[in-house]
Amino acid sequence: MASIIDGKKISQQIKDELKEEVARYREKGVSICLAVIQVGNDPASAVYVGNKKKACAYVGIESLAYELPEETTQEELLALVKELNEKKEVNGILVQLPLPEHIDENVVIRTISPEKDVDGFHPQSVGALSIGQRGFVSCTPAGVIQLLKRSGIQIDGKECVIIGRSNIVGKPLAMLLLRENGTVTVCHSHTADLKAVARRADILVVAIGRAKMVDADYVKEGAVVIDVGMDRDENGKLCGDVDYASVEPKASAITPVPGGVGPMTVAMLMNNCVETARRENALSADRTI
Ligand code: NAP
Repeated sequence: MASIIDGKKISQQIKDELKEEVARYREKGVSICLAVIQVGNDPASAVYVGNKKKACAYVGIESLAYELPEETTQEELLALVKELNEKKEVNGILVQLPLPEHIDENVVIRTISPEKDVDGFHPQSVGALSIGQRGFVSCTPAGVIQLLKRSGIQIDGKECVIIGRSNIVGKPLAMLLLRENGTVTVCHSHTADLKAVARRADILVVAIGRAKMVDADYVKEGAVVIDVGMDRDENGKLCGDVDYASVEPKASAITPVPGGVGPMTVAMLMNNCVETARRENALSADRTI
């Protein structure tokens, strides 16, 4: 029977640590502000933005909300991003994705100043991660690493298999696991004999967006299984990419969905916001993560 990796509890721990750190900064006269831009009224995006604002309020980070109409042009959005780049009192800028089809996400991401790129999506942040330099790390993969570390799971020397090679999860996670001295394999839709490759893993991370696809046949006895997926099952209920009921008896530790990786993403966004203050004010001695 697997131990359950409790993302809700671990994300709360992180937010509590950050809250204390932010309070110490405030005593020194340093405040932190995150600008969140949402274009259009996609209901899922509205929920994500709401969660981010709530987390900011909890940790003590000021949040500025820009809710722009669906018909906002790319030029108008870029003008706002540039204005926020210049504003000294804004530490982090987050543009909620996806954007409406007439706006090129890549252009928008590249316009955000790398100094304020708290989502870690700017090519400069991604490049820094690849060559082991300091930069913002995208939040979901950073959350996976914290889940492992704070659950006492050793990465060093372990066989790590990631299923999924997206720019926001699979690829940056591969870099992070490598940084922690894991031996990393990244699988995708062209991987031959996926089950056999997955069964090599001591740590199996699944980020494919296919409800309950990964069952016990993909898992080695005693493996640690991290489920990044956020899908809906046949009854419309939230579930992951891993068939929890089938995998849990075989794994040594597993993340549930919901309550696993999901809550970590917002906690790590808060950490990136605090990181802006650590950098600007040479406060790295206070660093908790
Ligand atoms: P994505 O951009 O759609 O990428 C999916 C990846 O999975 C691709 O690399 C794809 O391979 C691979 N894949 C798809 N079907 C496969 C199959 N049958 N066998 C092997 N590989 C397969 O997805 P994403 O944005 O990384 O998201 C993945 C999941 O994580 C989704 O459920 C998403 O909702 C969830 N997610 C959760 C959080 C969170 O905060 N918890 C954050 C981000 C994403 P190819 O490259 O060959 O197409």
